[in-house]
Amino acid sequence: MSRWKTVFWGVVGAAAAVVAGTFARRKYEETVLEIGHEFRTGEVVAREGGYQCEQCGYVLSLAAGKRLPPCPKCAHSRFLKIS
Ligand SMILES: [Zn+2]
Repeated sequence: MSRWKTVFWGVVGAAAAVVAGTFARRKYEETVLEIGHEFRTGEVVAREGGYQCEQCGYVLSLAAGKRLPPCPKCAHSRFLKIS
């Protein structure tokens, strides 16, 4: 009988670990990588990555410590970090 209990809690534990892992990864991407955050022209970016113009979709690749320029394609000033 207790063998099934062990199997049951093993499955529950594995599922919980997968959910926790997914959640932790998303939290890591949001807080550490700043994915999904909005940045504006003139801001100095703390992380390298792709910054996508909210207006035309142009993707700027910036290194850490660089200042965001206006969009090279449409001169818009708001970007979303996508990678
Ligand atoms: Zn643009």
